[in-house]
Amino acid sequence: MSLAGWFLTILILGAQSKAGVQKLLRWSDDPDLRQAVVDAAEHVAKQKSCSKVFGPRAAETLKAAGYRFVPMGRPQLRMFPTPQYSVVNAATIHEQNLILINSEGAFFEPRLAIEAAYFNYGLKDRKLRAFILLHELGHLMGRFEPDADNPALSRKYSDLVRESCF
Ligand SMILES: [Zn+2]
Repeated sequence: MSLAGWFLTILILGAQSKAGVQKLLRWSDDPDLRQAVVDAAEHVAKQKSCSKVFGPRAAETLKAAGYRFVPMGRPQLRMFPTPQYSVVNAATIHEQNLILINSEGAFFEPRLAIEAAYFNYGLKDRKLRAFILLHELGHLMGRFEPDADNPALSRKYSDLVRESCF
């Protein structure tokens, strides 16, 4: 299923549950989101290696995007290629200039952990939120290929952002 189709499914499911899809937000509408965008923009401005990943207009692009908090699931155990827990922290719908943030993921709960598995890439709270947004910014700017069905590619982009920006 395409991400757009998947989003429609979420909308329908969300309408039936109390913890459904939250309204469309601008970057400054939520305190944690606002701080994360400000922090992400600062990482891009201060680190050449980071601004190289995104090119010009990175901060403007983050501030022009729409945002939604949506439930996309708690960490799941994946058996392939090796057994490990993973969680979707966010997803981007490039065509709609929209970043979806998982209301059950590490953006909301940066210390989320199962047994010895953490989902924070060694980053704490504010840094982790900025990191999550920067990964999605790569998709928003068309610099990263879609990776929703490709954990290895997603991991590669996360590693690039981690190494270039933090
Ligand atoms: Zn990605």
